[in-house]
Amino acid sequence: MTAQRWHGGELRQDGLTGDWVVLAPGRATRPHGTDGPCPFCPGAGEDTPPETWRLPGPDGSGWQVRSVPNRYALSDRHEVIIESPDHEWDFRTATDAEAEAVLHAWQQRHLALRKAAAQVVIFRNHGLAAGTSRPHPHSQIAGLPVLSQPARRELELLRDHQPRGHRYAEDQLAGELAAGTRIVHTGPHSVALTPFAPNTAFEVRIVPRACQADFAAVPRAELADVARTLRMLLQALDGELGDPAYNLVVETAPTGWERAPFLSWSMRVLPRLEIAAGLELATGIPVVTATPEDTASALRARVGALA
Ligand SMILES: [Zn+2]
Repeated sequence: MTAQRWHGGELRQDGLTGDWVVLAPGRATRPHGTDGPCPFCPGAGEDTPPETWRLPGPDGSGWQVRSVPNRYALSDRHEVIIESPDHEWDFRTATDAEAEAVLHAWQQRHLALRKAAAQVVIFRNHGLAAGTSRPHPHSQIAGLPVLSQPARRELELLRDHQPRGHRYAEDQLAGELAAGTRIVHTGPHSVALTPFAPNTAFEVRIVPRACQADFAAVPRAELADVARTLRMLLQALDGELGDPAYNLVVETAPTGWERAPFLSWSMRVLPRLEIAAGLELATGIPVVTATPEDTASALRARVGALA
């Protein structure tokens, strides 16, 4: 049995599988709901730990995006990225520049936190069913001292694919672009598509046209296109499903693997339309109630109407 204390949290490893779990009893006390003033809104009620980073407002005053330590942290490398001073802000209604500013914040905090972590995860929970505890628009970034078992396994699989001459992601994207049936949107630098074998109904991924391992190294011109694709995708999901709860995850290279020639970053949006039940828990096999081809067709029409 392996357990590891780490910055106020505890990690335990399953003796058979090697899978890690995080024990964070402090998080049980984190608030749910909207009682009292919002601590993330600027003004008298603002109540956060000292900020670690900010993007100043467009006129140079105040802030547009800021990062603060998570008060209910999984570890002391766990930050909340407050995406806007506006309590009602959302990607769906944002300008492209505002959406890009949030992605830029993810890059900056990833660069800062990964110096002392094996893996830094970026995620956004939207809606109660996705586990969010604050209505004010925010995302989270957390550094872990170990590489998760799925990340380790994926590294090995992708490395084994590489001797065939190119990245798995490049082969996948070329195949999907040729088939077309699972493509939602194609931008100059990014593509939104539904995976052949999704984990949830309406799962969508955003992948770069020019594969690279490190999300934090995506240049601004490309990042702007990724932000625009994400904004349109979330608008399309809203139109199709009516503001669904979702988890958004940025998958990027673990620390030390940023230049790995076999990796490629991606972004996954996983709507939470159903609760995983016994079969999923017993087998680990998701039961997905929409085909990715139908999903892509519906979302493609929605995005087409936006453009
Ligand atoms: Zn607020």
